[in-house]
Amino acid sequence: MYKKYIENLKSYEAGKPIELIVREYGIEPKDVIKLASNENPLGCSKRVSEAIAKSADRAYLYPDDSMFELKEALSNRFGVDSKEIIIGAGSDQILEFISHIKLDEGSKILTSNITFAMYEIYAKGFGAEVIKTDSYRHIVDEFIEKIDSENPDIVYICTPNNPTGDATRRDDIFKIIDATPKESLVVVDCAYMEYVDSRDYFVEPKDFIKYSNVVYLGTFSKAYGLGGMRVGYGIANRELIDILYKVRPPFNITTLSLLAAIEASKDSDFVVRSVELNSKEMSRYEEFAKENGIEYIPSWTNFITYLLGENRDSTKIANNLMKKGIIVRDLASYGLNAIRVTIGKEEQNSRLFKELKEEI
Ligand SMILES: *Cc1c(COP(=O)(O)O)cnc(C)c1O
Repeated sequence: MYKKYIENLKSYEAGKPIELIVREYGIEPKDVIKLASNENPLGCSKRVSEAIAKSADRAYLYPDDSMFELKEALSNRFGVDSKEIIIGAGSDQILEFISHIKLDEGSKILTSNITFAMYEIYAKGFGAEVIKTDSYRHIVDEFIEKIDSENPDIVYICTPNNPTGDATRRDDIFKIIDATPKESLVVVDCAYMEYVDSRDYFVEPKDFIKYSNVVYLGTFSKAYGLGGMRVGYGIANRELIDILYKVRPPFNITTLSLLAAIEASKDSDFVVRSVELNSKEMSRYEEFAKENGIEYIPSWTNFITYLLGENRDSTKIANNLMKKGIIVRDLASYGLNAIRVTIGKEEQNSRLFKELKEEI
C-alpha cells in the first residue's frame, strides 16, 4: 500500500520525556531527572526566556522568512556570508533537506558504524541504501575504502559523534573530504562542537566553504540550551545553499524560535558557563566509572557513554533508573550494551551516581 522502504522503516527512538515518567511511575515532575537527550542542564539564557515571555503576543505572526537577523548573528560568529547559511527546524530539518536534494531509490549514504540515527532514517525514507564502516569511530582508511568501493552519494561525519561521544581529528576530516568525489556530498555534523576545546579536533564552518560539496551543520539545541525551540543551521558555499533552499518550506521555524535563537546568539557567556560546568562534571563521571570498574568512551560532548560489559544489562539498568525517576538513554537499539548519560548539574549527577551504584 505504501512505499516498501517506508513500511519497513523504524522511526527514531527519542529519549523518554519527563511526562511519561510522571504518568507511569507517579513520580513528581520535580523529582524526575532527565539525562537522556543531551539538553543543557542550565536551561537556556535568561535573555532568551525573558524575550520569549515579552514577545508571546507575537505568536500570531509568521516569522521573518529571510531570518535576516539570525543569519547576521551566525555570519558574525562564524565569519561566513549570510548567503552561505540556511536555517532549519533543528539541524534535523537540514538533514532532511540534504537527503531530499541528493537521495533517490538506489542512492547510497556512508556513515560510521554507530552514529546519529537520523542519517539512516532519512536515507531509507528516500529509498537509499545505508553503508556503514566497521568501527563506530570515523577511521579514515575505512571511509576511503568504502568511498572507493561503494561510491556513496552522501558521506556523513558526525564529530563529536552521537551516541558515542568520540571526535574525529581535524586532519582526518579533510582526508575523508579529499577522498570523496565532487559529485557526492560530505556532511560534517557538529552538533556538539561548542564542547570541543582541542585544536586538533575543532573545526568551524569557514574551514569548509571553499569546497563545493561540504555542508557544516550546527544547532542551538545543545550548548545554547534551545532544544525545545528547534533551531539548527547548515553552512556551505552559496551554490549548495541555494539548492537546499529549493526544498525548504516557508516559515520553517517559528516566530518565537527565531527570536530565541537571535537572543541566545547575544549571550556567549551562557555558553561559556555551560561548557565549563560540563567539563567539571564530566571529570566526576570519569572518576565514577573508574571507581566502579565501568569502561567508558572518552567524550568530547555533554554526555558520556558507559560501556557496561558482559555481566550487566543496559536495558535493565536504564529501566530500573527510570523507576527511580532518572532517565538515561539505553543504547541497546544501537547494538551496544551501554547507557548514554547526559551530563547534568552537580546535584543531579550525584543522585545518578548514587542510584547507578546500586544497579551495577
Ligand atoms: C542533537 C543532534 C542533532 C540535531 O539536533 P536538532 O535539535 O535537530 O538541531 C544533530 N546531530 C546530532 C549528532 C545530534 O546529537
